[in-house]
Amino acid sequence: MSGERQGSAFVRAGRNAAHGHAEGPDPRIEPSFAEASTVRHSRPRWREFAIEVLYRAGAVRLMERMARSLELKSTRGGKWQQIRRVSAPRFGILCYHRVGTGGVPLYSQLPAKTFEAQIRYLRENYRIISLDQLIAEMTNPVSLAPTVAVTFDDGYRGLFTEAYPILQAYGIPATIFLTIQSIETGQVAWYDRIFLALKVAIGTELVLDLEGPRRFSLVSPSLRMQSAVEIISSLRLLSPSRRRECCADLESKVHLPQVELQDRMLTWDQIRAMHLGGVSFGAHTMSHPVASRLSEDELTWEILESKRILELRLNSPVRHFAFPFGKREECGNAAAILAKGGFHSASTTEWGLNSQGTDPFRLRRVQIGEMGTQAMFAFQLSQLFLRDGADESEEESNSSHKRKRASFRHVARSDGGRRDA
Ligand SMILES: [Zn+2]
Repeated sequence: MSGERQGSAFVRAGRNAAHGHAEGPDPRIEPSFAEASTVRHSRPRWREFAIEVLYRAGAVRLMERMARSLELKSTRGGKWQQIRRVSAPRFGILCYHRVGTGGVPLYSQLPAKTFEAQIRYLRENYRIISLDQLIAEMTNPVSLAPTVAVTFDDGYRGLFTEAYPILQAYGIPATIFLTIQSIETGQVAWYDRIFLALKVAIGTELVLDLEGPRRFSLVSPSLRMQSAVEIISSLRLLSPSRRRECCADLESKVHLPQVELQDRMLTWDQIRAMHLGGVSFGAHTMSHPVASRLSEDELTWEILESKRILELRLNSPVRHFAFPFGKREECGNAAAILAKGGFHSASTTEWGLNSQGTDPFRLRRVQIGEMGTQAMFAFQLSQLFLRDGADESEEESNSSHKRKRASFRHVARSDGGRRDA
């Protein structure tokens, strides 16, 4: 097998093993590795095929139209679901990582043409607003139409070269969350280096000391990707200092080709150009740690220093934050730090929609952009808006939330679920 073909197989394996990429068992398991921790099982191809058939037959379009004004609601304690009219605003936040293909990041591949098709679909079928507007509308709602915001995490170079022209062409008020040390140094984050190490490591097995010796298989591209996912999942549980030691140990055993690591992140000039062009930027910590593994001092520094540097470089206030990795148990207790630091929101990777009762420092996001076909993207999005009402948490079903819903009735009457173009 040639090096190039082997590389392609690695990317495919990474997409399947780490992203789910149209084969994950459940879209609620985040599809992108950077915010995921487990290797996913394969979704039967028949499901992808069935959704393609539904899409071509117009059924997905019908779901999408139904979701404009209707939602499914579980009867409490029962397994039946009621169809009811939408009575409160619902906000979806899309989470992307990279737009583009080839090279680092190895876990994330999204051809620009596929991204453009998704953005065109959003523009034609959903109301699209900025995160600033989303936060404002969570307090003062103006529409019942299914509404989305578009976000990107980390700050890969392709966001300027591939995504930005598309965002401009369709007038998308996107937000990019930057890992500041990666932008300052031009170096990719620690997990990207591990993926690369496992791709280029020589031999059939790698032995690492991860709180005890562990053996990782290198015999195929998919097993190499699986090994990388397992190593990163283990390192996410360690303190930052111990994690750095383990990364140094790995890189003493595997030589990383520097050419693969160059020019992968945005530069400040590119960021400033996009900022002038209407893209918003948010903080994503300094070093992309797991927030819940940090001391309070470390967490405070990661959040506030990333905000300080970003504001300095942009000469503009920064109001939004995204948790690295972002699963509920990985976010830690950051609300007081975020509020004191002047943030208006913090995004996680917990699956779901946001509504008036959602904690603005625990916003939910969905990662469906890399799940495969246009049919799958449209299906997942319409299913999200149609079904999410059935998944309201207890906190959002409390009386306070019901009062807020009642106060929204005037909007419901005037809007009637109409979608803003
Ligand atoms: Zn990230």
